[in-house]
Amino acid sequence: MMNKLGDEMYALCRELFPICRSITGDDFRQSLAILKTHIPNMKVFEVPSGTKCFDWEVPREWNIRNAYIIDPDGNKFCDFKKSNIHVVGYSIPVKNTVSLDELQEHLYSLPEQPEAIPYITSYYKERWGFCITHRNRARLKQGEYKVVIDSELKEGSLTYGELIIPGQTSQEVFLSTYFCHPSMANDNLSGPVVTTFLAKWLSYRKNRFTYRIIFIPETIGSIAYLSKNLSEMKRNIIAGFNVSCIGDDRSYSYLPSRQGNTLADRAALHVLKHMHPEYTAYSFLERGSDERQYCSPGVDLPVCSVMRTKYGCYPEYHTSLDNLNLVTPAGLYGGYEVLRRSIECIELNKTLRATVSCEPQLGKRGLYPTISMKNSYVQVWDMMNLLAYSDGSYDLLKVAEIIDTPLWEMSETINNLKSEGLLEIVNK
Ligand code: ZN
Repeated sequence: MMNKLGDEMYALCRELFPICRSITGDDFRQSLAILKTHIPNMKVFEVPSGTKCFDWEVPREWNIRNAYIIDPDGNKFCDFKKSNIHVVGYSIPVKNTVSLDELQEHLYSLPEQPEAIPYITSYYKERWGFCITHRNRARLKQGEYKVVIDSELKEGSLTYGELIIPGQTSQEVFLSTYFCHPSMANDNLSGPVVTTFLAKWLSYRKNRFTYRIIFIPETIGSIAYLSKNLSEMKRNIIAGFNVSCIGDDRSYSYLPSRQGNTLADRAALHVLKHMHPEYTAYSFLERGSDERQYCSPGVDLPVCSVMRTKYGCYPEYHTSLDNLNLVTPAGLYGGYEVLRRSIECIELNKTLRATVSCEPQLGKRGLYPTISMKNSYVQVWDMMNLLAYSDGSYDLLKVAEIIDTPLWEMSETINNLKSEGLLEIVNK
């Protein structure tokens, strides 16, 4: 199972990797269309350039066809067709001949990582530029350089995808992932790919909660989405996850919501503690992606982040080295599994009350193991502990924490006690 799902997620990463996504544009639409083949019920929305969203405005739409530089000897380099991160994202069109000194003002490289092409954008200030390895930049000699960026900035729209999977109640679990970087894998193809597979899993499941799942460009996308949907989101969302940087196979990471103790935080921490106790816990003060918007003033939704290696905390971050070697099938599957378990915990989390007075006689109900095996004693104690803490005030996540058992392993015991009339549900 692990290899199959991990391989499928990795194959989707590979398919999406070459596309030059940005916060707007046809390549974002094309990427959504590929996801739609997996989750056909996803709806695609367009928000026109100039739309006011709180303190922000949707920018003009950017599309790019080609870009390159020709050196004084006639050699082409910084070729967009070879790597789309050679161009500064949102570069204005240019076709010019410039001296090396002038060209240098438009080049970006990383002296401390001379083999890496940096990923640079300039969404809100008009400029043009190229990103280059420092090694190649150091070789440039005096002379005339021909620069070509065949791009277009126009009144258009910002595109996003939304999938609503109805459940038994209108209360919602929210998954948000962003999709606006060109060829980079952990940040951020891993997020939409893992989220797509979570959406597929949820689509086949009978869910207690409704699922609101969005595929957006980072920052302006979450701001635009919130500005359209905030009151409904405030009313319905009981837990949410920002899904980002979830495909490498190094660490597991958790970044809390502003409130810090929401259902989403509690579920994520419960799962990480049992599955990956070596995880790294960050502070809300270290936030940097769309959890900024979801936990901002006046919004303050119960949204936390579960990641593999966090954005900004690995050397390949925002460079050409964040590629398909960094993200692995096992890394993607590990991230998927932590989020799937966290969702399972939220689905299972009810408040129960023991209906029996004093200790129940388990034997006459067929609940006491008639043969004493190594784990019989543990099973009985799990039942007794569950009954002891099912006092009508603790929810199951809290009980699971106290009795130190993964919630997703308690279903059978809960069902047995319920069917024997020893436990009842206090909340639906
Ligand atoms: Zn990023």
